[in-house]
Amino acid sequence: MTLTEKLLARASGKSAVRPGDNVWVNVDVLLTHDVCGPGTIGVFKREFGQNAKVWDRDKIVIIPDHYIFTADSLSNRNVDILRDFVREQGLPYFYDVIDEPEGHWKFDASRGQLKRQYGSGFAGVCHTALPRKGHTRPGEILFGTDSHTCMAGAFGLFATGIGNTDAGFILGTGKLLIKVPETMRFYLEGEMQPGVMAKDVILHVIGDIGFDGATYRAMQWEGPGARGMDMDDRMTIANMAIEAGGKNGIFPADQKTFDYVDERIAANGTKSQYEPVDLDREQSFVFDRTYDVSKLEPTVAMHPDPGNRALAKDLGNISLDRAYIGSCTGGKTTDFLAFAEIVRGKSVKIDTFGVPATPDVVAELKNTRWDEHSVWDILTDAGVTMTENASCAACLGGPVDTFGRLNTPMNCISATNRNFPGRMGSKESHVYLASPYTVAASALAGRITDPREYLG
Ligand code: SF4
Repeated sequence: MTLTEKLLARASGKSAVRPGDNVWVNVDVLLTHDVCGPGTIGVFKREFGQNAKVWDRDKIVIIPDHYIFTADSLSNRNVDILRDFVREQGLPYFYDVIDEPEGHWKFDASRGQLKRQYGSGFAGVCHTALPRKGHTRPGEILFGTDSHTCMAGAFGLFATGIGNTDAGFILGTGKLLIKVPETMRFYLEGEMQPGVMAKDVILHVIGDIGFDGATYRAMQWEGPGARGMDMDDRMTIANMAIEAGGKNGIFPADQKTFDYVDERIAANGTKSQYEPVDLDREQSFVFDRTYDVSKLEPTVAMHPDPGNRALAKDLGNISLDRAYIGSCTGGKTTDFLAFAEIVRGKSVKIDTFGVPATPDVVAELKNTRWDEHSVWDILTDAGVTMTENASCAACLGGPVDTFGRLNTPMNCISATNRNFPGRMGSKESHVYLASPYTVAASALAGRITDPREYLG
């Protein structure tokens, strides 16, 4: 069996499953956030009763992260709905925006977008926060009310996005009926060359198979090229499985995985037992292709979809109005370090916005020093408008006052993961997806630029 089949077999109490089987699986973690949480809670109460209790308090993780730093009152109220439910149910894993359990969240627009407006428990973007807070354990089954829940597959677990109805059902029962997907294997060989990042690998692969090329399939990443990647790289790749229509993305868990997971569990006091699954010698794939990542070059997904691939070096004629770095995919500390490597000591030519994925990323950028300067200062000195308010921000547009939102038609290069029309705001805008290196080089040049021009 493939990794996904082994996980679904075990979670459904069967010795084996095959693609196409429908199985009831026991859920280890259910994630929700401020956009889908209120709807999920509504379904749960409607179907199980106003006084119903959730199936397992310790298996629910609630992370407000999407429409947080906005004066939109209905968005602010969504966070209050989550807090009320958490209090009612006694849920331990709620990463609130504010520190007062009885309080109300209200964004104060008069304080501006740049300075921190959250309390000590706030965790930032859910998919980046989950592993950092010790909620991704190899071998488990994780569902989330968000399509990029597949990012957790970087840790060797089955993770996928679901709708509010399914999530409401899980809240009441801890189970879900799921069809076992076919598995596509992507076998990575070689080492990425300077200027090339994990984002280029996934953009190259989606360009190959198309934005629907993995529809309802597992994308399994193997080989020395995959083993050589650190956890942040694996997260970038697993995150974008859904951009090819994939059900889930998954990497085999190895010592790097265990080291990361064990450290985060110890730091956060979350459940410490887990049982990974190993690669079988015999696996059956619906698609099996080898990629030599040493041959890849800085890659861009052009408007209007993540599969519309081109090389950065061939797009120098496309001038830009904006550059954006942030999101679960592109707002990790390593993403900002790569970006800073390019812009250090230089000045961006176009409006450039930076949104760290989590408060930890903010702290790490402020505490990491290159010579006398923090990386945070290197970025702002280069003209990048950095906000301390870690969140999804303009990755999915949001209310009109959202930081970095494309409120008028423009060309934007972005380290995020999705570029369908209207995704970041204006439907007339063109969004080009690229690695943090390529976004940084393009911000300096004001046109799409191969980062190797700046890396020598
Ligand atoms: S950062 Fe973007 S892709 Fe990630 S969870 Fe938020 S809106 Fe979704």
